[in-house]
Amino acid sequence: MSRAVAEINLNAIEHNLKLVKNKTNSKILAVVKADAYGHGLIPVAQAAVDSGVDWLGTALLEEAIILRKNGFKLPIIAWLTPCGEDFESALNLNIDLSISSLEVLAEIVSAAKKIGKIPRLHIEIDTGMSRGGVGEEWEDFLVQIGHLLTENKINIVGVWSHFARADEPAEVMNSQQLSFFNDRVLKLNAMGVNPEFLHLANSAAVITFKDSHKSIVRWGIGLYGLSPDVENLGDSKLIGLKPAMRLKAKLNLVKKVKAGSTVGYGATAITKHDTKLGVVTLGYADGIPRNANNLAGVFVAGQRAPLIGRVSMDQFVVDLGIDSLAKTGDEVIVFGSGIDGEYTIDEWAKACGTINYEIVTRIGPRVPRIYTRE
Ligand SMILES: *Cc1c(COP(=O)(O)O)cnc(C)c1O
Repeated sequence: MSRAVAEINLNAIEHNLKLVKNKTNSKILAVVKADAYGHGLIPVAQAAVDSGVDWLGTALLEEAIILRKNGFKLPIIAWLTPCGEDFESALNLNIDLSISSLEVLAEIVSAAKKIGKIPRLHIEIDTGMSRGGVGEEWEDFLVQIGHLLTENKINIVGVWSHFARADEPAEVMNSQQLSFFNDRVLKLNAMGVNPEFLHLANSAAVITFKDSHKSIVRWGIGLYGLSPDVENLGDSKLIGLKPAMRLKAKLNLVKKVKAGSTVGYGATAITKHDTKLGVVTLGYADGIPRNANNLAGVFVAGQRAPLIGRVSMDQFVVDLGIDSLAKTGDEVIVFGSGIDGEYTIDEWAKACGTINYEIVTRIGPRVPRIYTRE
């Protein structure tokens, strides 16, 4: 094994897709943005397609373009489409586009005119997130949509929105967002616009909010075997998900130190006893958050060894304990499913004051991904 590697278990990806099929009758869209949450765009998309997913979704247009160029034929939507993107390529490659503004709509229509295509569009509605989506401009938007439809310049295939608090199922905001969405869809219907696809459910809503499933559900974090919210919905295991990523590295060095030795930049940690330290070959340049604390660490020689001191750019140090059998050159598991005793992604998230999404997505391009079937 090289210095560090992220093993991606494609069987886990497939398991997590089977699980979602048992939770909904809607079509399934696999969310593969951000390099498939750090798991690798093409292999994950392929595993998803092999397990019968209906749609692929990305944030960036270039991610959707890469999918098409790799031969993926199923419907693909890109939903972060600012002005100035390469809409001609998108339309040539039959990529569905999300629209939230009249500005982007105008650019897409003009790109479509140039190449003689009718764009397939999904209107995003701001139902309370105040992020993407048409908000107060709704009436103007409808007028413009009406004109373009009459002139046969666009095809409205979808309407969609996004929940702010689907991981908090008791929050009334969820049903408020849903009814706002339904109202806006009715307005479109009243104009004679009947989009084939309505979608708002993310992983949390798939698990907790059946009324929101509509025609497509967008399965993101669940695809990777992680819980959308460990505190409110329980961990992966409770939901029946299998985490797909296992991060491994090496001990660059194992050394004995005396009690009272300072460790790392800022000398923020001091050993309490005589102990052995292990220097792990990963750092914040690889996506290990610098603010990680000793609630995380690595698994080596059959034991957990907690992090000690600050994470550096390319290395961090763990406290192996005086009796550890670990030695220079050994492989360590930084995180995994937890089955063998290793730290989980959720534990790392907690140790860094963040969420599991950020831990996996941050693992950078210096760490090769390899694909397994366990
Ligand atoms: C990222 C994203 C999702 C997936 O969310 P999860 O919580 O990972 O399931 C769904 N829809 C949109 C618009 C997103 O940006």
